[in-house]
Amino acid sequence: MRQACKRFGSMETTVLVALGSNRRHGRHGRPEAVIAAAVSAMARDGLTILAVSRTHATAPIGPGGRRFANAAVAVSSTIPLPALLDVLKVIESNFGRRGGKRWGDRVLDLDIIGAGSVRIASRRLKVPHPCFATRRFVLDPLVEIAPGWRPPGHSATVRQLRFRAMRPKAPA
Ligand code: ATP
Ligand code: CA
Ligand code: CA
Repeated sequence: MRQACKRFGSMETTVLVALGSNRRHGRHGRPEAVIAAAVSAMARDGLTILAVSRTHATAPIGPGGRRFANAAVAVSSTIPLPALLDVLKVIESNFGRRGGKRWGDRVLDLDIIGAGSVRIASRRLKVPHPCFATRRFVLDPLVEIAPGWRPPGHSATVRQLRFRAMRPKAPA
């Protein structure tokens, strides 16, 4: 019984997190280096890093106009996802992220993409992330670390979603 409780009390969840940066950091420098430093910060904050994608250079979207560096990591954590979002927001803010425009220039953006079959639809946290399935800048790194993950609410794996996102759109 004691063993069962202990196991339950420390239940590990694997969480997929997308990282993005399109601004230099005073100390770490280029966006690619910001991504590497952010992965180290996540490990320092107690998340076990299970897998890290390559860091991809991505054309700018939104009002910023600067090239992004994007990556994805799989982490193992025992804390509930809303608390994990708080941890990620503190890391963003430690890297100098301040409010700012959605999709605007940012030193660091950390999004929870998904966690197995978990679904959350609260105001401040949506899991799986509502837009990831059509975003190449998320799917390209994600396919390296979780190709077979089938997000709840989707009938396709990450590999299949990326394949769809790569297809040229038919003319309207
Ligand atoms: P997008 O969410 O379209 O990628 P963004 O990352 O630029 O846009 P932010 O300004 O970083 O948007 O975040 C806005 C809010 O989204 C956050 O304050 C957070 O509470 C909320 N949010 C909801 N679901 C998630 C999630 N899965 N991961 C991270 N933040 C989320
Ligand atoms: Ca984002
Ligand atoms: Ca975000």
